[in-house]
Amino acid sequence: DDDLAILEAASDDPDAITYLPALPVLAIVGRPNVGKSALVNRIIGRREAVVEDTPGVTRDRVNYKAEWAGRHFTIVDTGGWEPDARGIDASVAAQAEIAIDLADAVLFVVDANVGPTATDEHVVRMLRKTKRPVFVAANKIDDVRQEPNAASLWSLGLGNPYPVSALHGRGVADLLDQIMKVLPEVSAVAKQEVGGPRRVAILGRPNVGKSSLLNRAAGEERVVVNELAGTTRDPVDEQVEIAGKIWRFVDTAGIRRRVHLQQGADFYASLRTSAALEKAEVAVVMIDVSQPVSEQDVRIIDLVLESGRALVLAFNKWDLLDDERRRYLEREIEQDLAHVSWAPRVNISAKTGRHMEKLVPALELALESWDTRIPTGKFNAFLAELTAEHPHPVRGGKQPRILFGTQASSRPPTFVLFTTGFLDPGYRRYITRRLREIWGFEGSPVNVNMRVRE
Ligand code: GDP
Repeated sequence: DDDLAILEAASDDPDAITYLPALPVLAIVGRPNVGKSALVNRIIGRREAVVEDTPGVTRDRVNYKAEWAGRHFTIVDTGGWEPDARGIDASVAAQAEIAIDLADAVLFVVDANVGPTATDEHVVRMLRKTKRPVFVAANKIDDVRQEPNAASLWSLGLGNPYPVSALHGRGVADLLDQIMKVLPEVSAVAKQEVGGPRRVAILGRPNVGKSSLLNRAAGEERVVVNELAGTTRDPVDEQVEIAGKIWRFVDTAGIRRRVHLQQGADFYASLRTSAALEKAEVAVVMIDVSQPVSEQDVRIIDLVLESGRALVLAFNKWDLLDDERRRYLEREIEQDLAHVSWAPRVNISAKTGRHMEKLVPALELALESWDTRIPTGKFNAFLAELTAEHPHPVRGGKQPRILFGTQASSRPPTFVLFTTGFLDPGYRRYITRRLREIWGFEGSPVNVNMRVRE
């Protein structure tokens, strides 16, 4: 697995690694079987083995980086959970809700040969109310004779239906051209003013205390603006002034409004988490100290790591902690959270207000690490010292050397090493460890990539 990551990293052009914050988001919505995954595959131009139409199957990946006509954007495939017949309406409604809140544009996929079903009509009513641009893809139009089927989808009242064949690629270019005309350059859902408020996602499993934390932040301090309506219903984000500085909490709509789903609730929670992370710069992952650290907690942290955002761990409900539970907690942290030992920790109680004042310094520390740039000269002096002290082991009579290194990007700090051969995963971990010893990078992931010079 690690080797694969190295191969991928090695093939990267260092100039291309530049991290683009808050790319515009296109969400794909539609009921099962209409061809959402085929269309996603077609757009991203890859066969990512996305298997559709297996009822009850949950896919892990929901976000994909895509590019069309030189424009970069994120595709959120909301259809990873394929419910059984009973759960379809709720599931497709949840998809639409997430898309409306967290996407810049929505692509609604309909099977043109079947026509709109009752489930489709349900989504259509939600989509008609949104101000977000909505595109209708009339899928499965494999040849020109089927085009009249697409035209009949005019009746949905969502504008011009685009006849496409996800399977053969027919019409997809035209559709993307039109989408690019309205998709903003940077996400309008999280406006990217340079020097604007920093964007925070509050994450955690249900009942961990997210809305309590938000209420405390927004209640005791001044709520500056309630803006950026995703819909006419309520705001998606909230801006709050804390100790003289404005912070933007993203997807507070998702915290305040709970979707009640019998099936697929975990999937939609992950989807919402991933989508919120797209908009955020730093995540506060809340963990309930009165409960054992769970797989779900770890999964949420892994989503943050995958997103490359900065991370703060907030251990909540500290008021409920007794001595016995506390001993277990320390052990759980050592066992399950060792891979994020670099994340600042705050031990809080959203209920009593305990240590709430420590949250902002932790956020600032994590963001500072995330923004860090190490000058190339300093970085190479570090590499020279490191390799002199501890050279790479000889492998099969050869010893890979590091020729030169540079920081390709920040947010998060990403380094590229130019080498004469593949570095052992263990050696790469050693480099990362030494980097952290010297520069800290508390609260930020650090990537070390390689380019092998033949
Ligand atoms: P969310 O689902 O993550 O938004 O969680 P909530 O904020 O709704 O909190 C779930 C429950 O935990 C509520 O009953 C809160 O009152 C309670 N709660 C939240 N924070 C704390 C805390 O620090 N201590 C205690 N004892 N209870 C808390």
